[in-house]
Amino acid sequence: MRRSLVVGNWKMNGTLASGKALVQEIVSGLDNTNADIAVCPPFIYLSEIDKLLQGSHLKFGAQNIADQESGAYTGEVSASMLKEINCTYALVGHSERRSYYGDTNETVAARFNQALSQDVCPILCVGETLEQREQDKTFQVIDEQLNAVIDLVGIESFAKAVIAYEPVWAIGTGKTASDEQAQEVHQYIRQQIAKRDQSIADNMQILYGGSVKPDNAKALFAMADIDGGLIGGASLDAESFLGIYNSI
Ligand code: PEP
Repeated sequence: MRRSLVVGNWKMNGTLASGKALVQEIVSGLDNTNADIAVCPPFIYLSEIDKLLQGSHLKFGAQNIADQESGAYTGEVSASMLKEINCTYALVGHSERRSYYGDTNETVAARFNQALSQDVCPILCVGETLEQREQDKTFQVIDEQLNAVIDLVGIESFAKAVIAYEPVWAIGTGKTASDEQAQEVHQYIRQQIAKRDQSIADNMQILYGGSVKPDNAKALFAMADIDGGLIGGASLDAESFLGIYNSI
């Protein structure tokens, strides 16, 4: 039986004070450990958030991670730096990184590899644009995004990773994929992993992301291959985020 996971991606929002208040509200409202839960604040707040979360069921992650180990890479934050502050997860290949900051399937694979090298669990984000969906290229895009990582790190590495399917057209748009549309792609992703390793596929947490809210989470999370969510906008409000968590 797979455990579910709900992750909040705060993106570049809030202040240190509002971030601390948000985690305190989430922690005090968390009344069960039925599923895993984490927040991904901006890098600069992570150490402060870490202090508030010691011993808590709520974990934290980074929104990105360097594709190199160390050295002259201005503006990057390495896997070992994140490990040093107890970071549990790192998003890799979020569609905003791919579209605004030039992340490619190859650099995403390198980031994934760096995260694993320090036991930071990578959350690999994959998903198609609206144009790609309309051209019937969804599965092809997912294959390319997955294969680049599998080719670099090997399928065994997916035993320590999470995948998030986030159709780009559903992120921050208020348009959620229907439960069936999301399930179809989740099932496809699991089958691609299963072709290489059945047991890793059976245990793999595959999250759905794209305008998840408390009122649509329950039906999405009830689908056979959806093991929780990667939540943007709704993770900035403790009540909404906890509402989503509690619908697992
Ligand atoms: C995201 O950015 O990963 C995301 C899913 O955002 P939203 O929930 O706001 O669509």
